[in-house]
Amino acid sequence: MSKELIDLAIERLREDFPNKSRSWVRRALIRFMKNTVKEYGEGAWVVRGLPELGDKYPTYVVRFKDGRYYCSCFESSWGLRRRSEVCTHIAAVILYRNYKKLDSEVYASVINIECVDYYLEIPSELKGKAKVVKSVRVVDSSDRLNPRHRVTYVVYSSEPMEIKAKLACDGDVRELSLRLARTRRYIVELLLR
Ligand SMILES: [Zn+2]
Repeated sequence: MSKELIDLAIERLREDFPNKSRSWVRRALIRFMKNTVKEYGEGAWVVRGLPELGDKYPTYVVRFKDGRYYCSCFESSWGLRRRSEVCTHIAAVILYRNYKKLDSEVYASVINIECVDYYLEIPSELKGKAKVVKSVRVVDSSDRLNPRHRVTYVVYSSEPMEIKAKLACDGDVRELSLRLARTRRYIVELLLR
């Protein structure tokens, strides 16, 4: 497992559950690092119990249904208290899924520019297949009405492809031919920081 990837997976978990305590995150991480999560089918995972974290059963089943997670520990004696919460079995599954997603393959192309005004356009018929994401940083705001930006565009897709794109930077419009090259999802996330 890569540390950078784990850090990103934890960051996503924290963003999704900003009110959860550090110990909740820590327990989810222990479960994940001890490799206790196994995929069991579509929307189902088995999480091996860890007695040191207070688990009474050897395994727990986590399911994702109608946009919600359910854990078999909800049915235990502590279930009533736990039902309203997201248990750390579920948190471990979310961490596992975050990690898997970040580790997955994508095809991407990166464009860096510095401009006051900018846009990148890809053909509309590709909009379901390819995504454009960007990060923008102000590099020069001496002209307060027209600050200069450093823009990183990442165009990515789940399959390799060549895309004709239109890039505008301060009135200069260029046609680009982008070849999306194989990389991993977390690289895309790192580029956009
Ligand atoms: Zn649980």
